[in-house]
Amino acid sequence: MANRIYKRRILMVDDAPSNLRLLADLLGSHGYEVSEAPSGPVALKMIQANLPHLILLDIFMPGMDGYQVCQQLKADERTREIPVIFISALSDTDNIVKGFEVGGVDYIIKPFKFREVLARVENHLLLVQQRKEIEALRLQDHQSFEALNRMKDEFIRMATHDLRNPLNVILGYTEVVGRLDIAESHQPMRNDALQAIRQNIQKMRGLVTDILDVAQVETGTGLTFSTLSLKTFLEKCLADFYIVAQQKQIKLIFNAPDSSTEITVDEHYMTRVVDNLVSNAIKYTPSGGEVTISACADIDYATIEITDTGIGIAEDDLMHLFDAFYRASHVQHEDIEGSGLGLAIVKTIVEKHSGLITVKSEPGKGSTFSIRLPLQPIYS
Ligand code: ADP
Repeated sequence: MANRIYKRRILMVDDAPSNLRLLADLLGSHGYEVSEAPSGPVALKMIQANLPHLILLDIFMPGMDGYQVCQQLKADERTREIPVIFISALSDTDNIVKGFEVGGVDYIIKPFKFREVLARVENHLLLVQQRKEIEALRLQDHQSFEALNRMKDEFIRMATHDLRNPLNVILGYTEVVGRLDIAESHQPMRNDALQAIRQNIQKMRGLVTDILDVAQVETGTGLTFSTLSLKTFLEKCLADFYIVAQQKQIKLIFNAPDSSTEITVDEHYMTRVVDNLVSNAIKYTPSGGEVTISACADIDYATIEITDTGIGIAEDDLMHLFDAFYRASHVQHEDIEGSGLGLAIVKTIVEKHSGLITVKSEPGKGSTFSIRLPLQPIYS
């Protein structure tokens, strides 16, 4: 049995109120404040003047019948949520169905069994109350979410300034220290130390940029789409990698797409995707290996594939690969540096373009990362 709710207003509408006198008295004795209306129009006026928590509504009344009263209540935002229980002398299914169709929540058939009426009234009042509580919780959740989002934005704003600036200051001082006149015997040690400081600053700058990028791309702020030639776009992305690959004695191969293929992407972020995948391919491929970038298009999609002959990825790692900060165990053992954020950013950017990224890999043989992008962007 539902919890009993006291001090609730119930309006009973019946053209012969004496019919309901006993019911009104009984409900009153159970703590309800009961008022009565002898017709539909009077009921509507009373409802507007003082909203009841529940209405017991007779179906058959001269002039305006119960269905019409209910329809008017449901059409008005102020009264829409008030539960209406129809009262009918007949156990006629048509009347009952019609009652539900016009927005009634339940029905009671005369003659009443008081305990049943009371149970129905209490249940519906409880339902309304629970619905309101759920609504309030939802609103609270929404407000907490908004507050968290504001905190995140504030953090990003602060991080941009407060994390990057000290790094620039430290970098500036390394220049000062580098120019200090010190004994020649100390210079190699000083230069090594400065080199180490600069390398670590670069690492921290990269990490800060990655964290800010994840946050920025996730909120979808700052994506600007433009239409580009896929071939020219990839040529631009790869330009700096030929030297990097050569230094590691890795062959970089580009299988260019048709020059007429165009993609509509955010150039800055899509460049980051290709950069990340190509630099990973070079990073995780030992000297003497190959990295191949291929691209092609069909009617709806462009596909970019980056294949390497590197160390590969174990099956257990594949499913976590795109999680933020995830790094496969073998790279940690082999001391290859990285933050584990690159692929998380890549996936987020690709998905913001309504695209798909997949990976196939075999440990010891190499990996292929494929990106599928709709030629016409589907803005999300
Ligand atoms: P990281 O900064 O560690 O490179 P990423 O998010 O770019 O971070 O990659 C996550 C992990 O995925 C890497 O630590 C590595 O284990 C694995 N990985 C990514 N690309 C390759 C690749 N081409 N070959 C082998 N492993 C890869």
